[in-house]
Amino acid sequence: MDANTQPQTLLEAMRYFSDPDVCLDFVALLRWPNGVACPTCGSVDVRFLATRRVWECKSKHPRKQFSVKVGTIFEDSPIGLDKWLAAIWMIANDKNGISSYEIARGIGVTQKSAWFMLHRIRLAMQTGTFQKLSGDVEVDETFLGGKARNMHKDVRERKIHGRGPSGKIIVMGILERHGRARLAVVPNRDTTTLQAKVREHVAPGATVYTDELASYAGLDVDYLHEVINHAESYARGVVHTNGMENFWSLLGRTVDGTYVSVEPFHLTRYLDEQAYRFDHRKENDGERFVGTFEGTVGRRLTYDKLTGNVESSDVLVTERQGRGKRKPKEQRDDRRQDANTGANAIWAV
Ligand SMILES: [Zn+2]
Repeated sequence: MDANTQPQTLLEAMRYFSDPDVCLDFVALLRWPNGVACPTCGSVDVRFLATRRVWECKSKHPRKQFSVKVGTIFEDSPIGLDKWLAAIWMIANDKNGISSYEIARGIGVTQKSAWFMLHRIRLAMQTGTFQKLSGDVEVDETFLGGKARNMHKDVRERKIHGRGPSGKIIVMGILERHGRARLAVVPNRDTTTLQAKVREHVAPGATVYTDELASYAGLDVDYLHEVINHAESYARGVVHTNGMENFWSLLGRTVDGTYVSVEPFHLTRYLDEQAYRFDHRKENDGERFVGTFEGTVGRRLTYDKLTGNVESSDVLVTERQGRGKRKPKEQRDDRRQDANTGANAIWAV
């Protein structure tokens, strides 16, 4: 969009994005600035099926047809792109933080839907992209802490609320080989919990490597699921979770001992830092500082950056996380909801 037609207010933005073709062009251009490419094989030899607003890859493989939503945080949501874009507009431009209730009223969805959208958009802003992890992805869990026995009873009850049965905190890790990492505190290792996280962060069609934990059975519906049986060996060719194991040993060295007695909320902050440092491991200190600074002082993300293209753009999105200031009750409820689901825990900037 150029400066003349660019919406200036929420109302203008909603009008502008109410045309599904405008929405599609807008997101497609941001996502594929150099031309539409197949999310499965990367080929640019694709044709557009105008009646269904999807593309079809001319290469031979499953999932030949794809929409602009494929592989993004919008994919598994029935909510239209028009509403997503309006919600992003609201979240990006509200300087004091915005609650799911305000979004629900603003764009006409239920509070539950708005909460889901808010969570996904915050996540995208924190991770710097709307695109999910793809390619070869390792998934694993680890336990942290577990010194609950030595705590006073009151302290223990306050601090280990939400932890696993042994008092340990369960941390789930999702690692794109040679790429990005996501960490999340999870309440348990049930099928529902673990698979929901995989689906939240990993694009369908990716190869997912796990150990033989039964909770991962069934992932092969959406992924190529490769299982390594650790009782037999630690690697079978490319089938291993060694990347994740390395990550845990790094994490264990710094977290266990230092952070065993912190509240889960603070632990998630710490995990965020770890994932951030990991993802920016190839940058020098100066570059990491600038990136961190941007995140601290009211994040400035370009639409290109949000959609995974790191070239600069002059369309700026500003997000500010209110700090230290007491928020209205409904917003605090949102935060609590985040803390309970570990939503704030997952990222890789
Ligand atoms: Zn293809």
